[in-house]
Amino acid sequence: MKSVHVLGDGCASMMFATRAKELHGHAITVIRPEAAPQPSDHMLGFWGTPEMAFAAQHARHTWPNWSIITGSAHATLTSEAHPYHAMHKLAYLEQAKKTAEDAGVRFIDEAEAEAFNPSLVFDTRPPRAPSGAMLQHFAGMEVEVDRPVFDPTTAVLMDFRVDQSHGMHFMYVLPFSPTRALLESTMFSTKVMPRDHYKEAITSYLFQHHKATVVEVIGEEQGVIPMGKLGLHDPNLPGLGANGGAIRPASGYTFAFIHQQIQTAVERVERGQPLRFTRPHKRVDVWMDGVLLAVLRHWPQQGPVLFGRMARSLSGEEFIRFMSGRAGWWLRFKVMMAMPKLPFIRGVSKMMFSRPHQVVS
Ligand SMILES: Cc1cc2nc3c(=O)[nH]c(=O)nc-3n(C[C@H](O)[C@H](O)[C@H](O)COP(=O)(O)OP(=O)(O)OC[C@H]3O[C@@H](n4cnc5c(N)ncnc54)[C@H](O)[C@@H]3O)c2cc1C
Repeated sequence: MKSVHVLGDGCASMMFATRAKELHGHAITVIRPEAAPQPSDHMLGFWGTPEMAFAAQHARHTWPNWSIITGSAHATLTSEAHPYHAMHKLAYLEQAKKTAEDAGVRFIDEAEAEAFNPSLVFDTRPPRAPSGAMLQHFAGMEVEVDRPVFDPTTAVLMDFRVDQSHGMHFMYVLPFSPTRALLESTMFSTKVMPRDHYKEAITSYLFQHHKATVVEVIGEEQGVIPMGKLGLHDPNLPGLGANGGAIRPASGYTFAFIHQQIQTAVERVERGQPLRFTRPHKRVDVWMDGVLLAVLRHWPQQGPVLFGRMARSLSGEEFIRFMSGRAGWWLRFKVMMAMPKLPFIRGVSKMMFSRPHQVVS
């Protein structure tokens, strides 16, 4: 029996632990790191494709439509078969822990783990971002407003009708009812803003575009997701989850990719191969995301144009396939053809000729 230690008790570690029964010959232990921050809740968004059914059952709300809005255009995409879902991270983790415990997974602290000599160790602590890395940084508020202004059938993935003077900036809006929604002021840039900046952006967006005022703040969340090429948390330990390369470099979506990463690993073990985790993105997708990130770093004003055109050129199902890393060559070509050509070419040259940044330890 191989003993497997997984450092960290977030989404990747717990999702892996729920698969313990399928990993014959492996005894799994989840280790809570000493330096781990207090767990905090946030919404996790993903499309309800068949392989995500395990998470879809925990969804708080689903949206058959999602939109991308720019100053000049509005694209609404639809999938009745695979709607956009959002669930509470802590609710998922709690349920996953129960499933894992039933499957015999052990949970211990880092100090207790020192007494063991495991056959394999995987690290899910956060990856290291190089200095000057592009970051997706955001703060959100779930609010109740004074007027029925939201459409609970449509998630707004990106509304660019907000201040663009500090980098690419959009509002992410998940409406739960005509008067209740989670709004996240989200930026792609190298510099995190003071928390009030995002909150003011949310209240002025509500007023400017909906003539609505917040009457109650139900909850708040915030995050910084490093984008692009990242280093392992500990160069001596193989990673899993975000630390195993699961963050999609240009979108920050991670959760569905963690599932793909774990599924591949479970299938390897079923074939009699050693347990290991590989990056769940295709090289060509990482390359395309690299170009996109180079454009957004150097010409952030192109962001609304790029994302707006992409949404208008794809059907709902194509959009899901592209975002989930399941695009074929024809779909990638379609996305490339939708991009404004000059910024894309400049992005390719910037990416090829810029120096790699140092990983911050
Ligand atoms: C606010 C927010 C919203 C997000 N929304 C989405 C979304 O809608 N869709 C999506 O796909 N992804 C989203 N993400 C990305 C999200 O982080 C991943 O989907 C998922 O949580 C990654 O799982 P993970 O196990 O790799 O990392 P985590 O779940 O973050 O787990 C990391 C582990 O490392 C531990 N840890 C953290 N810091 C330290 C430290 N300094 N030292 C030691 N241990 C540490 C933690 O306690 C935890 O055990 C969001 C992230 C944030 C922060």
